[in-house]
Amino acid sequence: MGFIKTEIRSESDLKSKPIVENADGDYDDSTTTTTTTTTTTTIINDNDDEKFDWHNQELKWKNILLLGIWHLATIGFYCYACVNDFKIQTIYFAVAIGMMSGIGTSAGSHRLWSHRSYRARWPLKLWLLMFQAITMNGSALSYARDHRTHHKYSDTAGDPKNPTRGLFYSHIGWWLLKKTDAVIDGGRQLDFSDLYRERLVYLQHKYYLPIFIIFGVLIPWSIPVFGWNEDPWMSFGLVVVLRITIVLHHLFTVNSLAHYFGYRPYDFRIRPADHRFVNYISFGEGIHNYHHVFPYDYRINERSQWELFNPPGMFIQLNRLIGLAYDLKVASPSVIAGVVRRRGVQPIRDQKRSLTFRIGNALFDWTVGILVGAWAAYPLIAFKLLTGRTIG
Ligand SMILES: [Zn+2]
Ligand SMILES: [Zn+2]
Repeated sequence: MGFIKTEIRSESDLKSKPIVENADGDYDDSTTTTTTTTTTTTIINDNDDEKFDWHNQELKWKNILLLGIWHLATIGFYCYACVNDFKIQTIYFAVAIGMMSGIGTSAGSHRLWSHRSYRARWPLKLWLLMFQAITMNGSALSYARDHRTHHKYSDTAGDPKNPTRGLFYSHIGWWLLKKTDAVIDGGRQLDFSDLYRERLVYLQHKYYLPIFIIFGVLIPWSIPVFGWNEDPWMSFGLVVVLRITIVLHHLFTVNSLAHYFGYRPYDFRIRPADHRFVNYISFGEGIHNYHHVFPYDYRINERSQWELFNPPGMFIQLNRLIGLAYDLKVASPSVIAGVVRRRGVQPIRDQKRSLTFRIGNALFDWTVGILVGAWAAYPLIAFKLLTGRTIG
C-alpha cells in the first residue's frame, strides 16, 4: 500500500512545514495567502513503515563488506594501540583531522550543499570538499541528495534514513540495504541540478575514490610515519581506521539519536529533537528540532555561535570574517517566536538569560563538548595507566 504525501502551500499547511524564503528573499512564514495556493501531490509507492521488514529488503553487499571489515579492523587496531607504544602526537593528529573532517561534513555537505544556508568562495569549497571526502561518508553530492530527501520526507517511507524503523536502521542499517522504491521515487521528485552544475562538487563526486585514497588514507597515514617516526601500522590504525570509524559514528547520530531523544520546542509534532548530549556527540548538529523547522539557518540553533557547542557554526563565522563565507542565512527572532507560538512549546524553548549566565553556560558547553568528543581515547588511556604502560 502506498502513501500519499500532499504539499499544499496554504496558511493551514504552513503549520506543519519548514519555514521557507518568500519571494522577497525574507524568511517569513506568515505571508502566504489563498491567492498563491498551489497543490502538489506526490504518491510514493512503497511499503508502509509498519510493514517494513528487514527480510524483504535487498542487501547492499559492497557496504556490508566494507563496513564489516572496517569495524573488525577498528577493534583490532584499538587492541593493537592498547598493547603497543605510540607517539602522543599521532593521537593529537588523528583527533585534529577527525575534527576537521567532521566540520567538512557539517559545514560543507550539510549546511552548505544540502541546505545552501550560506555561500562560500572556491578556496573554502575546496577545503570543505577535501575534508568531507576523508570521512568515507560518500561524496558531498550524494550526501546532499540523501539529506534533502531526508528533510523532505522526514520520518516516512520516503526518508532514506527513516528513524521510525529503529535506532539501528537510522544510524547505520540504511547503509546496508539498497534504497527502497519509496526513497528512489521521493528523490526523483526533488531537484538536485544545482549540485550537478557546481563544478567542484561534481568533480569531487566523480573522482571520490581517488580523492579519498590520497587525502583520506595515504597523506594522513604518511605524516606520522615520516613526520615523527611513528610505527606504520600504528599510524594506519589510529589516523586512518579508528579516526574514520569514530567520526562516522559521531555523524550518524544526527540521523539516529537526534530523531529519538530530547525536547521539541519549535514543533512538538515532529520526531527531530534538541538534545545537549546529542549536540556534543554530533559536532554541534544536535539541535535537530530547530534544524528541521528552520533548515536554512546556518547556525542550527537560535543562539550566538559562541554560546553553544557548535564547531561548524564557529568555523563558518570565522570564514565570514576572512571573506570566504558570505550571505549567511538565519531565522529572524520574530519568525521563530511566531512559529513557537503556533506549533512549539514556549516553556522548553531557550529563554533569554543574563550575559553572565550565557558566558558560564558557553564555557561549560564547549568544555564538555570537547571532552565528550574525545570519548574514544579514554578506555585506551585507562588501559595504559592500569597496566603500567607509557603513553607517547
Ligand atoms: Zn533529521
Ligand atoms: Zn539538515
